[in-house]
Amino acid sequence: MTDEGDVVIIGGGIGGLFTGALLAKNGQRVIVLEKNEIIGGGLQSFQRGDVSFDTGMHILGGFREGGNVRRICEYLGVFDKLQIRDVDDDCIDSIHYFSDGSEVHIPCGREAFVDYLSSLFPKEAVNIRNYVDKLYDITRECLCSGFWKTPTLLCCMTTTFICLPTS
Ligand SMILES: Cc1cc2nc3c(=O)[nH]c(=O)nc-3n(C[C@H](O)[C@H](O)[C@H](O)COP(=O)(O)OP(=O)(O)OC[C@H]3O[C@@H](n4cnc5c(N)ncnc54)[C@H](O)[C@@H]3O)c2cc1C
Repeated sequence: MTDEGDVVIIGGGIGGLFTGALLAKNGQRVIVLEKNEIIGGGLQSFQRGDVSFDTGMHILGGFREGGNVRRICEYLGVFDKLQIRDVDDDCIDSIHYFSDGSEVHIPCGREAFVDYLSSLFPKEAVNIRNYVDKLYDITRECLCSGFWKTPTLLCCMTTTFICLPTS
């Protein structure tokens, strides 16, 4: 495309970085342009006093055996370099509402996730099940097609191949 590269990726968040790494792995010359001083996008953290804050991402799904992100990291040869801490099975995320003091503790795993949300919103049980099934269908289709090994498909791909519930 240019003297310097075959592909220009605008934005060095996790989506741009993963895509760039996969394209490079597949032999493309890649340039990632990031407008900020540091890369990472929503994967940043910052410190105020003793407290560390995430700007966005705080857990990542798909890192267990056979998981989607794990398989991509293995393909890129970076999985062994990562320091991963497993989430708690009964709580991958907790949400605290200051308005009424209530708390939501989202459990790990497909069935636990569906069951828990359905218990909170029984009228939506079918929709919750359908939504989660669809997420898994999309993930399975992406993995089965081996899209990350196909540069042309990668160029068309949007980000976020990371989806709850963690498994
Ligand atoms: C509060 C919050 C909590 C979240 N928690 C989780 C979580 O726990 N787990 C999870 O998996 N996901 C979580 N997410 C979602 C996750 O952060 C995003 O899905 C992910 O960071 C998106 O990555 P991205 O690369 O698509 O975009 P971004 O991370 O937004 O990256 C886009 C990059 O493009 C750069 N950019 C934009 N315009 C230009 C331009 N014109 N030129 C050059 N560079 C440009 C930006 O500076 C940025 O670095 C959370 C999001 C939020 C907001």
